[in-house]
Amino acid sequence: MIMNDKSHHQTCTNCVMDTSDPSIKFDGNGVCDHCQDFKNNVKPNWQTDNRGRQELTRIVERIKASARGKDFDCLLGISGGVDSSYMLHLAVKEFGLRPLVFHVDGGWNSELAVHNINVMIDKLGLDLYTEVINWEEMKDFQLAFFKSGVPHLDIPQDHAFIATLYHFADKYNIKYILNGGNFSTECVQYPMKYYYYGTDMAQINDITKRFGTVKMETYPFSSIFRHKIYLKYIRGIHVVKPLNYMPYYKDEALALLEKEYRWKPYPQKHFESRFTRFYEGYWLPERFGFDPRRVMFSSLILTGQMTSEDALEKLKQPAYNLDRIEEDFNFIAIKLGISREELQGYFNMPKKYYWDYKNQQNVFRLGAKALHWLGVEKVKKRKK
Ligand SMILES: [Zn+2]
Repeated sequence: MIMNDKSHHQTCTNCVMDTSDPSIKFDGNGVCDHCQDFKNNVKPNWQTDNRGRQELTRIVERIKASARGKDFDCLLGISGGVDSSYMLHLAVKEFGLRPLVFHVDGGWNSELAVHNINVMIDKLGLDLYTEVINWEEMKDFQLAFFKSGVPHLDIPQDHAFIATLYHFADKYNIKYILNGGNFSTECVQYPMKYYYYGTDMAQINDITKRFGTVKMETYPFSSIFRHKIYLKYIRGIHVVKPLNYMPYYKDEALALLEKEYRWKPYPQKHFESRFTRFYEGYWLPERFGFDPRRVMFSSLILTGQMTSEDALEKLKQPAYNLDRIEEDFNFIAIKLGISREELQGYFNMPKKYYWDYKNQQNVFRLGAKALHWLGVEKVKKRKK
């Protein structure tokens, strides 16, 4: 049982978010602000009926028109997870697009992820552009985050993905990026305390300067200023999230992928990376008392794909297969080139958070506000 730091514990009466999210607020009926936010801000702006279809058809036409005579008309990053895999299927089979499909290999792909990417690429007859991150740099970057004591250990993987995406868009002069992000399975925000911004270079620089030991000569970096301003406004690169314009149900998407591509499901969202499986399934719940399944399940509850009874039942079981923890603990330590004891030491060390290191949180907050006021980001979601 994971205990919360606070003595007062409360779970939302509608979804399964609880006080392990430190900024959660409840109304008089015990309904949390994630649920209020969904009802007031997301749902009114989320059209998956005919209006959404028509809008998406117009967008697809614009994408095609932007790339006449070119080899690719859009860019699509694939992790091997269900959202990006399903989006690839739609892009090619339903919209008739010609995406440049790329994958970032940060050294932690599970065999299942490799299988899932390969079966799709083969069946659709596409080429895959793989960016392999220099392992010595990646390892050192990840170790720096372990040594810093913060919860957001996924940043070295996430940042490489984002930076590579924009690098490809820039290099091949592709104006549209298809993104598998969606309200249907991701409408609830992860708490900032555990999932800090992956593109805050002040934080990354501070942590790598203090704890890193090798020079990051080839690792792809991209600051938020570069991709949100330079690439968007100067180069005119747009991000499109097709899954938000249609009904998107995870179970149906899975069934289609399994049938059409011999695609195989993962036991949990984000488990396509062996590192993320360890980090979200074990490290976050056990070291920090935050179980990310609460966010995933709550999104599914709000969009009618799961009941809160089912979610609460599942949450009683640990996300991690406890029989395998020894094996995986050793695997992670060996892969990072450290002893099991050293890894255990990071697990036991005092907890640190993003505010313990340099950060530009205020700039990020201001930027989000500005984009909302300018009407660029129409759907204003709770800021973590
Ligand atoms: Zn709620």
